[in-house]
Amino acid sequence: MSGSRRSFLRDLASAVASAKEATAPPPVQAAQPPPGADLSDAEVERYSRQLVLPEWGAAAQLALSEASVLVIGAGALGAPVALYLAGAGIGRLGIVDDDAVELSNLHRQLLHFTPDVGVPKAESAAAKLRFLNPDVVVEPYQLRVDADNAAALLEGQDLVVDCSDSFPTRYAVNAACCAGGVPLVEGGVLGMSGLVMSIRPGRTACYRCAFPSPPEDAPRCADAGVLGPAAGVVGSLQALEAMKLLTGVAPAIADGFLSVDLATAEFMRVRTSRHEDCPDCATG
Ligand SMILES: [Zn+2]
Repeated sequence: MSGSRRSFLRDLASAVASAKEATAPPPVQAAQPPPGADLSDAEVERYSRQLVLPEWGAAAQLALSEASVLVIGAGALGAPVALYLAGAGIGRLGIVDDDAVELSNLHRQLLHFTPDVGVPKAESAAAKLRFLNPDVVVEPYQLRVDADNAAALLEGQDLVVDCSDSFPTRYAVNAACCAGGVPLVEGGVLGMSGLVMSIRPGRTACYRCAFPSPPEDAPRCADAGVLGPAAGVVGSLQALEAMKLLTGVAPAIADGFLSVDLATAEFMRVRTSRHEDCPDCATG
């Protein structure tokens, strides 16, 4: 990139940040950039296509670079989430998964390739993410999240993206995020449909407010099937929600969820609200 082009992008990013400071409400979650903080030439070039967005700019970029995000599950949803967050310049990315890569994963789990079969998914994912963006601190955790370890895993995290495929994990993560006040992006996909929901504990409805109990006899992915691009859409929406929550550049899908039917290409916002007696998020 030429010096003049780089200079132009930096000036543009600064101008957009200044204009946004004057007109936009304060970010929901992001810390303000510390005085004197700036982007390096390499960062300006790497992130140039998002820096020029009027909704983004240097302030959002710096907020993202200071954020720690935990991605639970390195599968069909976790792959696009982790790829987009690493590519966008998240500061620290934890990847939690206790499975190893299987041949039947490869049609939809884009972080894993044929030579990775048998390798722990957390390690396989971390290796690709470090290639994508060496500036991101990637921390693989080869374990399964449950009610006993969720709180410890959430320590120091600014946000969690739940990409697990298990309802017990989902409810344990929701409860831990509510207890710890950690924002959460939930997602799920099966066949050609899915849902996405963002949760700001204490402020918006949590997963249990929307779904008080897990469905009975919910089909498993292995039985009901899933198409790779459908998981890609849902995971991409989760990544976008995470970026919105961390920077405040746009409203998240909160107090309800987005229902995605990719067979009919219909997206529907379903509203819900906090339950006063929710065992996870009620303040009592
Ligand atoms: Zn709740």
